[in-house]
Amino acid sequence: KKYIDESSERKRLYNEVIELKGNIRVFCRCRPLNQAEITNGSSSVVEFDSSQENELQIVSSDSSKKQFKFDFVFKPEDNQEAVFAQTKPIVTSVLDGYNVCIFAYGQTGTGKTFTMEGTPENRGVNYRTLEELFHISKDRTGVMRYELFVSMLEVYNEKIRDLLVENSNQPSKKLEIKHAAEGTQEVPGLTEARVYTTEEVWELLKSGAKARSVGSTNANELSSRSHCLLRVTVKGENLINGHKTKSHLWLVDLAGSERVGKIEVEGERLKESQFINKSLSALGDVISALASKSGHVPYRNSKLTHMLQSSLGGDCKTLMFVQISPNSGDLGETLCSLNFASRVRGIESGPARKQA
Ligand code: ADP
Repeated sequence: KKYIDESSERKRLYNEVIELKGNIRVFCRCRPLNQAEITNGSSSVVEFDSSQENELQIVSSDSSKKQFKFDFVFKPEDNQEAVFAQTKPIVTSVLDGYNVCIFAYGQTGTGKTFTMEGTPENRGVNYRTLEELFHISKDRTGVMRYELFVSMLEVYNEKIRDLLVENSNQPSKKLEIKHAAEGTQEVPGLTEARVYTTEEVWELLKSGAKARSVGSTNANELSSRSHCLLRVTVKGENLINGHKTKSHLWLVDLAGSERVGKIEVEGERLKESQFINKSLSALGDVISALASKSGHVPYRNSKLTHMLQSSLGGDCKTLMFVQISPNSGDLGETLCSLNFASRVRGIESGPARKQA
């Protein structure tokens, strides 16, 4: 009874409180101005409306304003708890057998990693999700039995790398996407760690994050140019009717969406930025094809979308965080990200509303 109540409450939350049809949501999160920006006397180009939780306005240098609407807008002062409170109904639906994908999209330095991974003091969506999954599965003891598995991988220049290999100093094996039964995709050889406790999860997430930087001279730079994917696999068994489910939750910290300057674009860097552009636009194309319910969904155009194919579309739930900077110097990139996210969601952005 408790389980049924709880699961219908989650459905209600998902379908009604977050008032939108369809399975694709876009949340926008704006980081605070940082110390350097404050010292430089930068001002914020982002305005929020205290009565509208889903709107923001961007003020350009000529004082013109452009309004954007999303499913939810987080202000600089909103903390990790506030973000997770909105995200929770989506991520926990993996326990009800849904496949779920969450992406953090935006320019480097806008808080993608902060939102997903967080810091030891301000843990992000990844850790909080696992914590909540353990919590709910404990609550359902006797009705449902769950097994949770975690994998972590990186996609860099269209190559897939396992981030949970035992000895991260060894050159990692090359991973490929294979088609499995029922139109699902698998990555044979990818480490899947069974997890039992939140502490274990925290250690795994830390070691995965560390493995991400191995082999690169500049860890920050590399992480901004690769996609980092955390996959949570949930195997569930209903102890009353014997019904079994297996579902995936993907938590993705995408490569920085910034366009690179003409001078820098040479050699290795050119190749990297071409791969990033290709995969981010492939992702945008897939999501907007799904949002517009168009027949053909171009999953095969990048490793990222190909791997996520069975977790995007159909009954799956998708959430994109579009991360932005309030700094006037980042205005161009901010508008690009907001336009991208609006296109993805199929929501038209418009001129500013008249001030009352
Ligand atoms: P990205 O992953 O997009 O490159 P980061 O997550 O590394 O960006 O964020 C850049 C810096 O800004 C980090 O020092 C991070 O801790 C800080 N930061 C980002 N978002 C917030 C926020 N909402 N509140 C406080 N600090 C933030």
